[in-house]
Amino acid sequence: MSFDVNAVRQDFPILDQMVHDKPLVYLDNGATTQKPSVVIDALDHYYKVDNSNVHRGAHTLSDRATIAFENARKAVQTFLNAQHSEEIIWTRGTTESINIVAQSYGDAFIKKGDVILVSGMEHHANIVPWQMLCERTGAILKPIPVLDNGELDMNAFDTLIQDNVKFVSLVHVSNALGTVNPVKTVIEKSHAVGAKVLIDGAQAVAHFTVDVQELDADFYVFSGHKVFGPTGIGCLYGKKELMDAMPPILGGGEMIEKVSFDGTTYQGLPFKFEAGTPNIGGAIALDAALTYLMNLDRDAMVAYEEELLAYAHEKAAQCEGLKVIGTAKEKAGVLSFLIEGTHPADVGMLLDQQGVAVRTGHHCAMPIMDQFCIPGTARASFSIYNTKDDVDALFTALEKVKMFLT
Ligand code: PMP
Repeated sequence: MSFDVNAVRQDFPILDQMVHDKPLVYLDNGATTQKPSVVIDALDHYYKVDNSNVHRGAHTLSDRATIAFENARKAVQTFLNAQHSEEIIWTRGTTESINIVAQSYGDAFIKKGDVILVSGMEHHANIVPWQMLCERTGAILKPIPVLDNGELDMNAFDTLIQDNVKFVSLVHVSNALGTVNPVKTVIEKSHAVGAKVLIDGAQAVAHFTVDVQELDADFYVFSGHKVFGPTGIGCLYGKKELMDAMPPILGGGEMIEKVSFDGTTYQGLPFKFEAGTPNIGGAIALDAALTYLMNLDRDAMVAYEEELLAYAHEKAAQCEGLKVIGTAKEKAGVLSFLIEGTHPADVGMLLDQQGVAVRTGHHCAMPIMDQFCIPGTARASFSIYNTKDDVDALFTALEKVKMFLT
């Protein structure tokens, strides 16, 4: 098997359209990826044929929905190589997954004076829940510094990682810079002082294979919509022994074993963290997305994406007045940049006029923007269906943007 980008493009019907009379060049995959037909069909099939509530029905449709929903959990288990399927909790996405850990694990096990480490390049979703935890508990949040090229400052990390650190929450791939962090080393060193580690995989799982057992991550989280699935569904992986000891944070149906006014007992994993009717169709469609991805030749896919990003960097180096923000040695999927003398918002708008979709702004990562003393960047983010032609289209459009704005 090898990687056939033209075949992949055929699987994504949305790509075949004109925007402002120009062929769409979709380079906003960091914000959300497009969906292959198999995902759209899975959603369609579920609502047309199997729609029913799960786990408690005494009828055929409910059985079908329950089987598909629980099979989807097993697909995520396979996707992340988790040891047990009950280590996979359905959430709305990365944000909710991190909040569950910060509230449940955090309130139960983090105490006043404990140190929580994040990095300076985190998405707000991996900063604010920890700040809120610190407000509740008196714990202290410290950022691991980031070097000028966008790499994590591992020397600074080595100094920070002391016995008082009880939790480390780190992004696997930065959405603002594209940096791939050395998460395995961070996990090893954190475990050596007894700290637990959460990895924010929102920008990682669509680009390369993740093995939570090999990483020895305590928690690993991602969003379905950034890995070819629908919005409103995501996952929290957590080691069984940790999550068994964690209290539920939402109470209601599905998460209980027995309810009475004398006291209520809870279900075990995974249901104790899944109060209320879940996003059944979303989970089933995410299964279709992950299965689609797992059926590609993933080594060839990684090589293809690496080549594409390297090509984008080459073109960027030749583009006068363009400055790349984030030049780490290990990068995935992201080219963040500024054009001298222009504001990123204007660049984004003028690219859109030429059919090229990028994101502009602070990318929900204000601290790293502050570190670089910039208001934001324009960000082209790539996926498996992008081509060198897309990169060329971006840079041709940028020449016009420069003529217009400078
Ligand atoms: N972390 C990272 C690194 C992200 O890129 C994003 C989405 N931009 C999030 C967290 C939040 O994901 P969601 O909005 O799907 O919860």
